[in-house]
Amino acid sequence: MINPKTVVNFYNLLKNQRLDISQLRELQNQKLRKIIKHAYDNVIYYHKLFDSAGILPEDIRSVNDLHKIPITTKSCLRDLDIREIISKNARPDDCIKMITSGESGIPFEFYLGPEEYDYWKLLLLRFHMANGMRLTDKCTVLAYPLRFPKNKRWFQRLGVLRHIYISALDPAKKYTDKIIKSNPDVILGYASALKLFAKEAEKRKDINIRPKSILSSGEMLDSETRFIVKKTFGIQIADLYSVIETGPIAWECPFHEGYHINIDSVVLECVKNGKIASYGEKGRLICTNLFNFTMPMIRYSVNDVAVLTKKTCSCGRGFPLLEKIEGRSLDFITLPDDRVISPAVILIMLRRLIGQAQHKVIQKEKDKILIQLVPGKNFREESIASLKREMQKELNAAINIDVEIVEEIKKSRSGKMRSVISEVANNL
Ligand SMILES: [Zn+2]
Repeated sequence: MINPKTVVNFYNLLKNQRLDISQLRELQNQKLRKIIKHAYDNVIYYHKLFDSAGILPEDIRSVNDLHKIPITTKSCLRDLDIREIISKNARPDDCIKMITSGESGIPFEFYLGPEEYDYWKLLLLRFHMANGMRLTDKCTVLAYPLRFPKNKRWFQRLGVLRHIYISALDPAKKYTDKIIKSNPDVILGYASALKLFAKEAEKRKDINIRPKSILSSGEMLDSETRFIVKKTFGIQIADLYSVIETGPIAWECPFHEGYHINIDSVVLECVKNGKIASYGEKGRLICTNLFNFTMPMIRYSVNDVAVLTKKTCSCGRGFPLLEKIEGRSLDFITLPDDRVISPAVILIMLRRLIGQAQHKVIQKEKDKILIQLVPGKNFREESIASLKREMQKELNAAINIDVEIVEEIKKSRSGKMRSVISEVANNL
């Protein structure tokens, strides 16, 4: 059955869309004080961090005080023992474990409780519903097959939140056929996989599906994909900006005037040279999660660059806007049979196979992939052979995979860590 708390959370999340900015800020500050106190009292890492900075939870009364807390990066956390970063009452065995996507090449394990995981899903649902999805709609999800849920929930059997899952590992032609056959009301997927779908659909004259929403997440959504979706289906694709460690952060509504920041669930700071960036100025994003008490993320550096705007959206929602988000642009991989594989799929596959080892994928030729690895904790030499085997099997392709153990992954000239690079020209 559904947890009553989930029903209350759902009601509140929908209601928060009608609050004005000052009410939302007040709610955000209340939640912030609660998570700060919890983190200091229950998480060894934050207790030490606050002590080292000479601050107490009482010093953080609002978002304006947050700058007193030092920024936490992935590197600060990934080598610590799990007991130092998880709440003392939480048991990892009872939690949902996620491994971060590793766009930056540095994956790490992340935990949240079952109720918190439900809350996360509700944030997704709010984004979907704001873009026209009804609970009884048929949704087709284009994703990595090992992510498909094994069982249907009871309400799905009653026709609520019906989801059809389609593998993004199939050739784009094949999954486009399947999506068309599923005749969906809503299509969900990684931005890059949806790009391939949109390209394939554009070529066809006989497209007879009329989805009311196409929703992307997980990667940069480029303007070309937006253009083709609009041209082929007559609707605008709406994008969600989400980070595994902090959850769904910001999303587009049908007005497309920016990304609404979920300030009832996160605090997002945009920082330039150690100071809060002005409106309209590019800054690096720092995020504080307000709902994960199992493994709090406070002032966590998410490594993407964005621009905050003072403008408000014509939809009337009080959530402030991000004007644009930059970063997380990755290359597609083209296999010998000309299948073009979404980089998001490659990253998900890798993190399942090699856990916390830092990595970079370089495609040299169609049948040649080099994986550079910086072994993390728990890494075993034997994993390399199984990595090669599993990747060949999952990609269903005759490719040579070389694994090179390195001390560090070098950044590109732009200073960005690009974790999937292809030197093979693709037909995109
Ligand atoms: Zn809006």
